[in-house]
Amino acid sequence: MSSERIYYFDNNATTQVDPAVREAMMPFLTESYGNPSSMHSFGGNVEKNIERAREQVAALLGAEPTEVIFTSCGTESDNAAILSAIETNPLKRHIVTSKVEHPAVYEYADYCEHKGCRVTRLPVDAEGLLHVDEFRQALSDATAVASIMYANNETGVVFPVEELAQIAREKGILFHTDAVQAVGKIPLNMKTSAVDMLSLSGHKLHAPKGVGALYVRKGTRFAPFIIGGHQERGRRAGTENVASIVALGKACEIAKQFIDEENTRVKKLRDLLETGLVRACSDTMVNGSREHRLPNTTNISFKFVEGEAILLHFNELGICASSGSACTSGSLEPSRILRSMGIPYSAAHGAVRFSLSRYNTEEEVRYVIAQVPPIIENLRRISPFNENNVYTIK
Ligand code: PLP
Repeated sequence: MSSERIYYFDNNATTQVDPAVREAMMPFLTESYGNPSSMHSFGGNVEKNIERAREQVAALLGAEPTEVIFTSCGTESDNAAILSAIETNPLKRHIVTSKVEHPAVYEYADYCEHKGCRVTRLPVDAEGLLHVDEFRQALSDATAVASIMYANNETGVVFPVEELAQIAREKGILFHTDAVQAVGKIPLNMKTSAVDMLSLSGHKLHAPKGVGALYVRKGTRFAPFIIGGHQERGRRAGTENVASIVALGKACEIAKQFIDEENTRVKKLRDLLETGLVRACSDTMVNGSREHRLPNTTNISFKFVEGEAILLHFNELGICASSGSACTSGSLEPSRILRSMGIPYSAAHGAVRFSLSRYNTEEEVRYVIAQVPPIIENLRRISPFNENNVYTIK
């Protein structure tokens, strides 16, 4: 990166740690190093802080503290939820999920399939939306769990999870949701929800990486993913990552205070960025429903250019965004999510995801709006698509 200043628009990838969160966790990396399982009060005092964090996470979810299990990340929470549903329903070998899940669910479903489960992966439409009727029809007596994400990480599209969970409940089927991108952006209330299990991740809401939580509704049978200790009431063994758990608690407390701002100021900035870029550049399209969408995310296709090439230019300017996971494994295959939506290759290749947070400012947004059009024009001039006459730019 040759720019000294960073313009960070990649908050769906990870977020910066809130200074208050950092401060809250520091004692547990310094003087308060006791083991929360110890009999002495030096450890016991640490344990109290874990319980305080559990209350803070529960408060954000509208849940009971006993319904919160701390994990190492969103991926572990997702894996643990699906595994538990399968283990506690040995006669049911069917999983219903979607084609646009994060790999934490998508690939775990692949693994379950390999182990003998049947998996139904529901499609989405051109707006990235999942159809409730198709979900209802996919459920059967053999279904152990339905796992549908709350909001998509690439497009920000929000699914009708509360409605889907209600349908699953009426059929006596466990419902899990990967809410890693939704927590802190969408108000949640597990008391009025029919969701049985919900995953969240600390580093998406201004806590550090390597900590997450799984909400498990009281009364839901649970089989642990990690075995070998009494921690988390036997539901997740292993000495607790105390500093990070305390951080996650604090981050949830702060997120609760900022949820309105996410849906007003941050949303306004996202809209300013989106309309600014769409107006300034020809041949663009916004991917995903604009109505059912997280307030912080916009996924814009700059047709006839490569998203990766745009990101390389961004890098020189200090702008951090993402090309919608198109190139995560070094391949040039466009994103599975955008392909599932039927976005043509010429547009899917040029997709860039901008994801904002409460730390973004209008000045940063205006900087991006000013920088992008010449980058796109230059790339289009040298684009192989033009030379080969594969696409015609209008
Ligand atoms: N689920 C979604 C929707 C995500 O966006 C992510 C991270 O990008 C995860 C799960 C995985 O979370 P973690 O990085 O904490 O394992």
